[in-house]
Amino acid sequence: MNIPMLDLKAEYALLRDEIEPAVVAALAACQYIGGPNVKAFEAEAATYAGVKHAISCASGTDALLIALRAIGLGPGDEVITTAFTFVATASTVVMCGATPVFVDIDSRTFNLDLNQVEAAITPRTKAIVPVHLFGQPVHLAPLKALCAEHGLKLIEDAAQSFGADYAGRKSGAYGDIGCTSFYPSKNLSAFGDGGLMLTDDDQLAAELRVLASHGSRVRYHHHVLGYNSRLDEIQAVILRVKLKRLDHFNDRRRAIAESYNVQLAGLVETPFADGYGRHVYHQYTILSDRRDAIQKVLTDAGIACAVYYPVPLHRQEMFAATHGQVTLPVTESVARRCLSLPISPLLREDQIRHIAGVMGQALT
Ligand SMILES: *Cc1c(COP(=O)(O)O)cnc(C)c1O
Repeated sequence: MNIPMLDLKAEYALLRDEIEPAVVAALAACQYIGGPNVKAFEAEAATYAGVKHAISCASGTDALLIALRAIGLGPGDEVITTAFTFVATASTVVMCGATPVFVDIDSRTFNLDLNQVEAAITPRTKAIVPVHLFGQPVHLAPLKALCAEHGLKLIEDAAQSFGADYAGRKSGAYGDIGCTSFYPSKNLSAFGDGGLMLTDDDQLAAELRVLASHGSRVRYHHHVLGYNSRLDEIQAVILRVKLKRLDHFNDRRRAIAESYNVQLAGLVETPFADGYGRHVYHQYTILSDRRDAIQKVLTDAGIACAVYYPVPLHRQEMFAATHGQVTLPVTESVARRCLSLPISPLLREDQIRHIAGVMGQALT
């Protein structure tokens, strides 16, 4: 039985009767940029997330870059974040001319170790960028308190956690700005690239819009160096259809994770949900000292699996000159032992049993 990491084909089969006519209608309407579906999606996403402003852009990377620019990040500034994440969390800091400061992670949640953040604050620190890794919300209240005390901004990287709940709010709605991605593998995904920035702050919202459209407040008048970063009409159509299913799909991911937890108990370290928020299992990630052996057995059996992330950011070549001396023991240990298993909202119970069975044979 071949099992992919994420079964987009099954999802497409389920949604095509709704998506295809909506896409065809948008093609015929010929408003490809800044069209009615983009505006409607922004309004629906803002309502869903419970924020005043949702501003779409071309990718999750752009959402982070534009958010960091909007808070005035520049040369000489530092941003505290994690090295156990996708590169865009920190590359966007460098794109602003600033420096990422990597703090180690908690060995069970894989999120920033909240006990180590305060010691990393310096007079140059401008922001903290927590990543809700694999869909588990970071416990943000202590970080918000640190930000208030030290005059910092809190920018959430919610690329993997859209739809997760924390403190009665949706992921991305708690910090000064929340950034998410609609890359095809994300929990809410487009059929191409897309991104979104969430904020309750009117002034920041205006700044985000200006930066995403060539630094222009008035057409053909450019106030600051901006970007051409837009969500297109076709992606907006698709996202509107899928947003309606997001909570249901995230419920399915939680149910699948529970089933995995039961079937893999005792074989590997199953994911730990700290209970501060509601996890949406963007990835279902286990730990094992025999990770490489499990990966080989699964791959040989036609079951996809993946190491997110094999090389933490402080060990990446692009950061060798600036961060080569940094050591993050927990991050490094988790990177050696982690393995993400297939998780799709449409993954079936018999497939989960099969995956657990293959792993069981490999480990006993
Ligand atoms: C996917 C991702 C991004 C970047 O999003 P893109 O839409 O691919 O640009 C940023 N941060 C994290 C944690 C991600 O998983």
